[in-house]
Amino acid sequence: MSTAPRDTALWHPFADMFQVKKSQFCVSKADGVWIYDQEGRRYLDGTASLWYANVGHGRTEIVEAAAAQMRELESYFVFNDFTNPPAEALADRLSQLAPMDGAKIFLTTGGGESIDTAAKLARQYWAQRGQPQRTHILSRGNAYHGTNGMGTSIGGIEVNQAGFGQLVPEVGRVAHDDAEGLREAIDRLGADRVAAFFAEPVMGAGGLYPPEPGYLEAVAKICAEHDILFVADAVICGFGRVGTWFGVERWGLQPDMITFAKGVTSGYLPLGGVVVAERVAEPFWNHPGRPFRHGATYSGHPTVAAAALANLDILEREKLLPRADELERPLHDALQQLADHPAVAEVRGGTGLLGAVELAPEVLAADPGAVGRAQTAIRDLGVIVRPLGKALAVSPPLIISESEIDLIGKAMREGLDSLA
Ligand code: PMP
Repeated sequence: MSTAPRDTALWHPFADMFQVKKSQFCVSKADGVWIYDQEGRRYLDGTASLWYANVGHGRTEIVEAAAAQMRELESYFVFNDFTNPPAEALADRLSQLAPMDGAKIFLTTGGGESIDTAAKLARQYWAQRGQPQRTHILSRGNAYHGTNGMGTSIGGIEVNQAGFGQLVPEVGRVAHDDAEGLREAIDRLGADRVAAFFAEPVMGAGGLYPPEPGYLEAVAKICAEHDILFVADAVICGFGRVGTWFGVERWGLQPDMITFAKGVTSGYLPLGGVVVAERVAEPFWNHPGRPFRHGATYSGHPTVAAAALANLDILEREKLLPRADELERPLHDALQQLADHPAVAEVRGGTGLLGAVELAPEVLAADPGAVGRAQTAIRDLGVIVRPLGKALAVSPPLIISESEIDLIGKAMREGLDSLA
């Protein structure tokens, strides 16, 4: 239930505060796949919060790892030659797990910061290689890469760019599902002016679009043919969400960089980063006097790194990556059962624990707020789903059971019925 109106000072991201200030939904507790509002009513967390609670909520093992680290060394920076044991251990472990040999790990505090890091690194890489004119960054229409400067500029959801004045120049978008469109854009610009191509393996916030068969392999090949850096944005797809550590292994890809966040800590503390292939790190690591003049205060934060290590332990010990593979079909089947509902136009998913149900055009024409209304109705029935453009998205914790997946499907059907 929404809480009674109160004077809030909290400015919610992406929210219409004129509406939200009248009615908020206050989450005050969580455990496993369940969250609780202030009245103690429980809801099935069908979205793993904002795509990130991969191991579920309330894991005391992560809490204790963070607390133990805080007692030892709560925080210290890693600029210049400073380092700390958890940051080192985490970088080693992520490098081992990454699909590229000898990868280096740049740590940040979230997804958007990782995108800015990767985009700046791509441009500097080419400058270091004596090709400073390689500055253009291409991305996919409908892409979401966060809301920092670079991420806003290379994002493909146009409403997220409106009204902010001049964004970062020398960026360009190609159709989200057309590998040949990428080739044409490269030919138009000239490959020697293109630094990198960014792509989410499964497009998330843009509406939940798994890749067309062969698409990712084709764009990776086009990048390789033109010596353009291929950057996979695995902020959503990583850490088991599509059954693999960095998402991309599912398609046999070895990108030049991988951005990650969310599932790396399951959200217990904010962390992101960039996996950098040896080739991209080489000019900086094997030659003196070439610092990458970029970084944030909390890069390599030891308490955050300790939480990440405990989270990786859980993902491994409880075999949650193969579990996501096993649950992929039941989740897709549960959503597919809604395909014949009169309010539904399309069901997408079937790639990991990610799915979406798009509302029918006539429903949206009759009520432009139908997606939000459906989400609230489903929440009132005790299940959290996420409004995403014309669709409702689900991305449950990897620990969800098949019977809990059925609860999501049932509540969604009932919520959609209420639109009639
Ligand atoms: N990239 C992708 C693919 C994302 O889904 C997100 C966040 N949903 C981001 C980048 C930005 O991450 P953050 O919100 O942590 O800055």
